[in-house]
Amino acid sequence: MNKVPEIFGSMVFNESVMKARLPKDTFKSLMRTRKAGTPLAPEVANVVANAMKDWAVEHGCTHFTHWFQPMTGVTAEKHDSFIYPIDGERVIMEFSGKELIKGEPDASSFPSGGLRATFEARGYTAWDPTSDAFIKDDTLCIPTAFCSYTGEALDKKTPLLRSMNALNKQALRVLRLFGDFQTQRVHTTVGPEQEYFLIDRDMYLKRRDLVYTGRTLFGAKPPKGQEMEDHYFGVIKPKVKAFMEDLDEELWKLGVLAKTEHNEVAPSQHELAPIFADANVAADHNQLTMEVMKKVAARHGLACLLHEKPFEGVNGSGKHNNWSMSTDRGANLLDPGDSPRENAQFLLFLVAIIEAVDEHQDLLRLSVASAGNDHRLGANEAPPAIISIFLGDELTAVLESIDQGKDYDAKDREVLKIGVDALPPLPKDTTDRNRTSPFAFTGNKFEFRMLGSTVSIACPNMILNTIVADVLESFADRLENAEDFTTELNTILHDSYHKHKRIVFNGDGYTDAWVKEAEKRGLLNLPSTAEALPYYARPENVKMFEHHGVLTGDEVRSRCEIQLENYCKQLHIEALTMVDMLRKQILPAASKYLSVLGSTITTTQAAYPKAKCQYEKDTMEKLSSLIDSLYKETGILETDIANEESKAGDIEKQAHYVRDTLFVQMEKTRAIADQIEPMVDKTLWPYPTYGDMLFSVL
Ligand code: ADP
Ligand code: MG
Repeated sequence: MNKVPEIFGSMVFNESVMKARLPKDTFKSLMRTRKAGTPLAPEVANVVANAMKDWAVEHGCTHFTHWFQPMTGVTAEKHDSFIYPIDGERVIMEFSGKELIKGEPDASSFPSGGLRATFEARGYTAWDPTSDAFIKDDTLCIPTAFCSYTGEALDKKTPLLRSMNALNKQALRVLRLFGDFQTQRVHTTVGPEQEYFLIDRDMYLKRRDLVYTGRTLFGAKPPKGQEMEDHYFGVIKPKVKAFMEDLDEELWKLGVLAKTEHNEVAPSQHELAPIFADANVAADHNQLTMEVMKKVAARHGLACLLHEKPFEGVNGSGKHNNWSMSTDRGANLLDPGDSPRENAQFLLFLVAIIEAVDEHQDLLRLSVASAGNDHRLGANEAPPAIISIFLGDELTAVLESIDQGKDYDAKDREVLKIGVDALPPLPKDTTDRNRTSPFAFTGNKFEFRMLGSTVSIACPNMILNTIVADVLESFADRLENAEDFTTELNTILHDSYHKHKRIVFNGDGYTDAWVKEAEKRGLLNLPSTAEALPYYARPENVKMFEHHGVLTGDEVRSRCEIQLENYCKQLHIEALTMVDMLRKQILPAASKYLSVLGSTITTTQAAYPKAKCQYEKDTMEKLSSLIDSLYKETGILETDIANEESKAGDIEKQAHYVRDTLFVQMEKTRAIADQIEPMVDKTLWPYPTYGDMLFSVL
């Protein structure tokens, strides 16, 4: 496709479009607003809005929408047309600065976790000029933050932006200490690698569980799964290839830097990796990517599954969040660099991250907690829900030598004095040497791998930015007041690493031995969302969020509540869907087959009395008893669903109930249904099986 450069960003009101279409002064003040966050004067906003509208109308738009990310986890839009009546008969296309800057969606049914009750009834959306407006479905989409009238964040973007500012502030202080007075801004950079499944759309539509809940609630293991490892990086099938090409093109038009597409471990599983961007833009782009994936899949007769665990017993889907910090002059702060000064600065940032991750394991863990991700983290076939850091042998050796007060001993270098000598060359790890680590250093960035495939990356990055800002602040405080900078620097590196090195683990994170070892080290292990989320509102966490201006106490508590509510709702819907499928599909199909077997015996033996009908009789006996148990467990499941009501009012209790009672009963019931499925005549089975779906795309 040689028209890529023309296509790229063609649906985006980006800097070059702005430059071409805005008067010089307007362009300049808009750029100032984008870079430094200075407010935009109303007359400037009017000029920008008008240029945006003209550009959008030329591209076929009739409507605009503020595009935002409420706590539902998906994006929201409210479309308005550009039409403006004049002289009672005609309309013109109008779009004012006021409409660009502020919107008032009817927000009453977005989750607010009690915030709106406490504060104001309505919310408003506010233009985020740092993320480009774009055209989607003939509509001009304007990325916005979503807040209550008293300024409380009701969305995922607002705290992310605040956390980027917090990190910028503290990182700049550290840079100044190392003599960098040129850098004006430190950006958080993020590249999220997105995993997903593609299956045949007709099959998808036949599965009520996939349609209602995003995952299969039943399904026996197929004869072939992922054991042959023949899918990973394998040849991409023509239908998938066509999908990927179309997807890339759609994303490029939207300015999303989709770069790599390949097959993943499980059959029908794939991955898309974009080139990294500023965290806020990366978060917007990832939401868009997920939306476009679903849309393009439908065009190709496919369904894109973004759930963390669509199929039991088959690899789940995650989202690897590659994270780093870089200056506005393009220097990556997690690049070890060549000179002693760069190395010392790098080590300080590195140790700050180690300390932050160790101190705030709870927050990182809960930032990826959801009903879907519970099937990956801490579940029986996935990595444990324990946070640890992979540094690699070379870097660990450097830090160990600092810890032991010894000079670093490398082959070609006898001694290493931090701040004086240069680090030995550290091999850049681009090959995921340790794929089991939840938080791995990969040469010049960290890869946080615990995110589920559906999750918005806003929250994990908001947490990362805030906890790192918090540690950087304490380091900067000490260094600014130090008598001798180098001595204090060495003390900080030593003390911080020594205290927090328990979080560093370079071994295989998937083994039971690690779970035991982690417990000995005192690391947190929070296997489910019900256990993890309540940590959000611990007093020390609230204090830190407030201190850095990222979240108020009320915002933290409301977020915690909303997420626990979402968790309960998700499991509740899954349980109801199960009962629906059991009563309307599974039990009737099994029972029908039982009667088929019965009539076969009667008619066969009438025609041929010597026939033993062993298969029919054995199957009948086993099937009949399984149906009885399934019927019984279904009844218990229904009672458990009804009992959830009694826990309402105490969201933590309710979350534990759905996890420890409802979910356990769902698993028990499913296990019986999965034993029945392979016994029943395929023509009677009411929906596609795992084998059908996983190998449905050719
Ligand atoms: P691979 O894993 O395929 O070898 P990389 O590790 O270089 O490739 O990149 C994986 C992801 O990490 C990509 O999305 C890439 O853009 C992103 N990435 C690379 N450098 C950075 C960085 N400095 N900050 C954030 N993300 C980055
Ligand atoms: Mg990678």
